[in-house]
Amino acid sequence: MANANPSAGHGGARGANKLPDLRELSHAELAGVLGELGAPAFRVKQVEEWLARPEVQGFDAMTNLPKDLREKLAERYTLSSMALAATRVSKDGSRKYLVRCASDGTYVECVGLPSAGRLSVCVSTQAGCAMGCSFCATGRAGLTRSLSAREIADQVGVVRADFGLRVSSVVFMGQGEPFANYDATLAALRILNAPGPETIGARHLTVSTCGIIPRIRQFSKEPEQFTLAISLHSAVQATRNALMPAVRKYPLTRLHEVLGEYAERTHRRPTYEFAPIEGVNDTNPEVDALVDFCAGTLCHVNLIHLNELEGSPLKPSAASRVRGIQARLERAGVETTIREPRGQDIEAACGQLRQRLEGLGF
Ligand code: SAH
Ligand code: SF4
Repeated sequence: MANANPSAGHGGARGANKLPDLRELSHAELAGVLGELGAPAFRVKQVEEWLARPEVQGFDAMTNLPKDLREKLAERYTLSSMALAATRVSKDGSRKYLVRCASDGTYVECVGLPSAGRLSVCVSTQAGCAMGCSFCATGRAGLTRSLSAREIADQVGVVRADFGLRVSSVVFMGQGEPFANYDATLAALRILNAPGPETIGARHLTVSTCGIIPRIRQFSKEPEQFTLAISLHSAVQATRNALMPAVRKYPLTRLHEVLGEYAERTHRRPTYEFAPIEGVNDTNPEVDALVDFCAGTLCHVNLIHLNELEGSPLKPSAASRVRGIQARLERAGVETTIREPRGQDIEAACGQLRQRLEGLGF
């Protein structure tokens, strides 16, 4: 994805909100604020009930409060840790957003993808990423900082508000490595999965990781049935080391083992993301290794189109080669889907969010 840079977005710009976030206040602070505004004590509980609902992103939603109190609050506070800074709308209806963290002005991107009355959202878990995968634009820029749980979950609120639609699924596939920000990622999953009118089922919440084994193990022990995707990109250790240097210390043999345990424990099928790269991971020995890695295990392979980075020697494999890889996997009984690059008019600057969303069947 593009750098966290405000100039990356076009059109639809709105002023970034610099007001403090009401949800960051403690109970006592909130009571103090409401008291100063002349509200009776029972309003504190009413406001807290609204604040507990993550879909509430504006004071107008607080229908049991008097209008003047709502207005006074809105002049002084925001209800979202994220402010919409810019929107890009694709010809195919998907929208990419640049959002600004209210706390310090850091920018990240998220995407909304409507299809047949359903809305999928892709969120960032970090501004930038420290993993440095050689094919990834986010990795190139390095890590700015991890996002808080609220900042992750509030991206969903921004997209929901812009579309005015219920969100049916969320993928944690924007900028950043979710398992390098595990606690906030889990807390965000739980905010989104919390009971309420806008709740999103655990199976419709997907986290994608480059393969941080201790966290995969931890994730498989979480009580909810969240969905897991793994960026595999090669089942040959030397190739994977070159493409994804930060996960060298988590070798493929252990990854294979831990994913077997994950499937056994959760009865869930992990998705493997694999972007065929000409002459790098699409050769016959590479495909043999991929088949060996997957055959006989519970998994689904998504062959995704490599988004070329400027100045990078890495090129996507020819379509015929990708079909050949799919055929080999399917002969071995491994369910495989080829994801065509789409929505490129807005993806060009940021990677292949659209494709990744579709890659998970959303
Ligand atoms: N850090 C996590 C999630 C964010 S990246 C992860 O790596 O899984 C989301 C997906 O985009 C990953 O599957 C990643 O491998 C893929 N990706 C990154 N750069 C890409 C590129 N240039 N072309 C195609 N897919 C890419
Ligand atoms: Fe990009 Fe994911 Fe690698 Fe980070 S871990 S550099 S986001 S592919």
